[in-house]
Amino acid sequence: MSEAKPGWKSLPENDALAPGTADKFHTGGWRSEKPIWNEKTCIQCMICWIACPDVSVTVKDGKMTGFDYDHCKGCGICAFECPTKPKSIVMETEKK
Ligand code: SF4
Ligand code: SF4
Repeated sequence: MSEAKPGWKSLPENDALAPGTADKFHTGGWRSEKPIWNEKTCIQCMICWIACPDVSVTVKDGKMTGFDYDHCKGCGICAFECPTKPKSIVMETEKK
């Protein structure tokens, strides 16, 4: 008979598990590329904001204002989805 394994509720509670703490963890440090925004060619369609899986496109008064680089992981989806030609978001290698 196999030994019973502990369930997830037996894990110690700390910041990494507490709900509502995601903002404290600067996951942008994982990034190898970063999105660069061209405000001049941006048509404010907000597709990048919809597409970003990390809610890292910043917005004020309904308009894009840039990126939250503390949490952007550099996946490039925003740049891929940006519809302008040339793109209003390009990915550039992160300088660390
Ligand atoms: S690179 Fe990825 S995580 Fe960063 S803003 Fe664009 S879609 Fe969001
Ligand atoms: S997807 Fe491109 S054009 Fe649309 S808001 Fe974002 S940067 Fe601007």
